[in-house]
Amino acid sequence: MSTQHSASSSSSSPLRILITNDDGIDAPGIFALKQALDRAGHHVTVCAPDRPRSAAGHAITLHKPLRLKQVALRDGTLGYAGSGTPADCVTLGLIAVLENETVDLVVSGINHGPNLGWDVTYSGTVSAAMEAVIIGYPAIAVSVASYAEEIHWDGAANFVANVLAPQVVRNGLPPTTLLNVNAPDLPEDRIKGVRLATQGDRQYVDRLEKRHDPVGRPYYWLGGKIHDKEAAPGTDVKAIGEGYISVTPIHLDLTAHAFMRDLRGWGIER
Ligand code: MN
Repeated sequence: MSTQHSASSSSSSPLRILITNDDGIDAPGIFALKQALDRAGHHVTVCAPDRPRSAAGHAITLHKPLRLKQVALRDGTLGYAGSGTPADCVTLGLIAVLENETVDLVVSGINHGPNLGWDVTYSGTVSAAMEAVIIGYPAIAVSVASYAEEIHWDGAANFVANVLAPQVVRNGLPPTTLLNVNAPDLPEDRIKGVRLATQGDRQYVDRLEKRHDPVGRPYYWLGGKIHDKEAAPGTDVKAIGEGYISVTPIHLDLTAHAFMRDLRGWGIER
């Protein structure tokens, strides 16, 4: 797949981008994203959780102080580690770190692991992008759909840095809408392309495992495996399975508009 950027998409118009994640500021995925955005000539500020916060969802911290610490990233530049959740770090980044500065875009990721289908409801990565949208900034969430120890970050990183980020800023996004990107864990030249996709349906089986502690009391371990079934055409799950990057527009209006008419027929309005 070619994600070569044109001169106009980056060198002539560097973007001001805040990046965050839910895997923590030391995670390799956020650094790969930063490097790709740097290479494309954008101005990047990193503000991310000071420790892994995967599956934090859209939690925010209301009842204790939030701390913000300047830290050296592995390329020697400075980033900001926040003591809160991914959503907190977006607020800290936009309002505390970049106070009074223009921000063109917020990117959350690159997450180590898929955010496909209903995963987005648990995802700290996607929730951070949602928080950016709520505050009023365009946002992209990006993940590599694999839990392997060694991940191929380049395909996702270069697509976002060279293609998607400039397009989002140029075209804008509708109100309350963000883009959720998943990439297969493949070397960049083996990624087949990019597909627009709907949110798929991914069910887990054996969700709860019952075990016993050394004194015989039961405890439970939450996890489970993905139910192995054919993914529906046009979905993010299908695109990833076929070796494509998926791009899914997601909006924060969770109203089931299609059901509204039937529900009205119940006659519960009075
Ligand atoms: Mn994560």
